[in-house]
Amino acid sequence: MRDTDYDVIVAGGGMAGLITAASIAEFSKQNARVLVVDRNSEDEPGKKTSAGWICGDAVSKNSLDFLAKSTGIVYGRPEIEHEVEGVMVYSPDHSTKVLFEGAGYILNRKLLPRRQVEDAKKRGVEFQFGVSLESLIAEDGYVKGVVGRTRNNEVFKKTARVVVDATGSASLLRVRLPIKAKIQREIDRDDMVATGRYIYEFDVAEEDPSCFDPKYALIHLDQYLAPGGYAWTFPKGQNKVNIGLGYQKRALDARNRRFGKSDGLQDLIDEYVAKNRVIRNPRLSSSPDDKGNEKGHWQVPVRRPNDCMVANGYAVVGDAAWMPRPIDAGGIGPAIHGSVILGRTVAEALEAGDVSEAGLWKYNVEFMRSYGYQMASFEVLRRYLQTLPNEDIDFGMRYFLSQEDIGLITHRRHPKFSNLLNPALMVRVMEKPGLARGLKYTVDKSEKLIAHNQNYPETPQKFDEWQKALLKELQETYIKFGLA
Ligand SMILES: Cc1cc2nc3c(=O)[nH]c(=O)nc-3n(C[C@H](O)[C@H](O)[C@H](O)COP(=O)(O)OP(=O)(O)OC[C@H]3O[C@@H](n4cnc5c(N)ncnc54)[C@H](O)[C@@H]3O)c2cc1C
Repeated sequence: MRDTDYDVIVAGGGMAGLITAASIAEFSKQNARVLVVDRNSEDEPGKKTSAGWICGDAVSKNSLDFLAKSTGIVYGRPEIEHEVEGVMVYSPDHSTKVLFEGAGYILNRKLLPRRQVEDAKKRGVEFQFGVSLESLIAEDGYVKGVVGRTRNNEVFKKTARVVVDATGSASLLRVRLPIKAKIQREIDRDDMVATGRYIYEFDVAEEDPSCFDPKYALIHLDQYLAPGGYAWTFPKGQNKVNIGLGYQKRALDARNRRFGKSDGLQDLIDEYVAKNRVIRNPRLSSSPDDKGNEKGHWQVPVRRPNDCMVANGYAVVGDAAWMPRPIDAGGIGPAIHGSVILGRTVAEALEAGDVSEAGLWKYNVEFMRSYGYQMASFEVLRRYLQTLPNEDIDFGMRYFLSQEDIGLITHRRHPKFSNLLNPALMVRVMEKPGLARGLKYTVDKSEKLIAHNQNYPETPQKFDEWQKALLKELQETYIKFGLA
C-alpha cells in the first residue's frame, strides 16, 4: 500500500525537470511512480514564459555526451539545430579574440522538450500539464506534496515522498519552502542577469567572422552594450542566428548614469544587432519550429549554486537551484549534470526508505565534487570583471590571458593569470597595477574557495560550519571590490 499519490513529483517540466524525471525512472529499481507537473499545455512543453523558450540555445557536446553515457538518451535532429566548433570571445575593441575550442550544439529549445517528454514517458513517467503550482504541503517537518491550480481554477493537490523543484529561476516553491531547511531561499539582485534575444533570419551584408561565423558561437564582451554581462551571436545556420545579450542591473544603472542614458534591455539588444556588419535586413524567424519563440527576455541566476539543495522530502535543481555558471550564464550543462545526479540520488533514497535531508544529501556532495566546486570562484571572478571598464578588459585579454588560462577555462576551470608573474610582461603589469592586483586576488581567492568546496561536508551535521567559512571568504571579496 502506498501512502502517497506518487513516489516523486517533479515540479516544472523544463530542461532540469524533464531530465530529472527520466533519470529517476531510469535508475529506479522499484519502478518509482514519478509525476511531472507543469503549467504549460501539453503541446507547449518546456516553455519558460509566455514569450517562449527563451535561451541562447548553446550547449557543449561534453554535456550531451554525459547525458547519453549516464541515461542512454541521445539527442539528434531536429532538437539539435546546428553544430559549432567552439566559442570565440571578442574583447570590447575586437582587437583580441580568444578561441575556446570544443564542439557544441545550438539547440531548438522549442522542439527539445517534446523529445524529452517522450523520453520520460517511455520510462514510465506520468504528466500533469496545465497546472500552476503555488505551494508545498508540509507535514512533520517534511515536504509531502504540492498544491496548485488548473486552468479552470480548480485546486490541484497531490502528495509524494519527494518533491523536486525544477520550476526555474523564479521558483516560488523554494522561496516559500514551508519547513526548516539549510536551503537559501532568496537570491541577491546583483546575482541575476536580465537577458533577451531574437531568433533572426537575415541577408548577409558582408563576410566578417568577428560579427557572425557559422562555425563558432561568438561572445562579445562590452560594458557599454552589455554592462556586467555579455552579448552573443550564435549561428543557427548560414543566415539564421540566435542573437542577444544579458546585463546586470547595477552595472547598467552605472553605465546609464555615466553616459546620461536611460537604455533598457530592448535598446541594448537593438543597438547590438544594428552594429552587426554581417546582419542586414534581420527578420524574425519564419520557421514553424520557432513560432511563438522568435523574441523574448527572461532572467538567469549567475551566482554559485544554492549552498544546500536538499531538505526533508525536497530537492531543488536547475535554475531554481541557481545552477547556471556564474561566468557565462550557461545553465543547460549544469542542469543536465545536476538532474542526472539528483535522479540517481532520489532513486537510491526511495529504495533505502530515507528521503530525509540526510538521505538526499549525496546529491549535494556529488554535484559539488563533480561540477559545483569551481562555481564560487567563478562568482568572485564574475563580480570582479563586472567592475572593470572596457579598456581594462581589452588590456587584460591582450596581455594577461595566457594559453594555459584558455585551456583551463575551456575545461571549466579557473584561470591562473600566470602571465602576471612573467618577467617579460612586467612592463604591462606596471602599466595597469590595479588590474594586475585585482586579477591576482581572484586567483588566490579561487584556490581557497576551490579547496573549501572540495571539502563539502559529507553529512548535514558539518554544513553550518562549512557554510560560515564560505560566506566569510565571499564577504571579504565583496568588501574588497566595494560591493558589500
Ligand atoms: C536569454 C537566455 C539565454 C540563455 N542562453 C543559454 C545558453 O546559450 N546556454 C545555456 O547553457 N544556458 C543558457 N541560458 C540558461 C538556460 O536557458 C537555463 O539554465 C535552463 O533553461 C534552465 O532549465 P530549468 O529547467 O531549470 O528551468 P526552465 O527552463 O525555466 O524551466 C522551468 C519549467 O518550470 C515550469 N514552471 C515554472 N513555474 C511553474 C509553476 N509555478 N507551476 C508549474 N510549472 C512551472 C515552466 O513552465 C518550465 O517548463 C539562457 C537563459 C536565458 C534566459
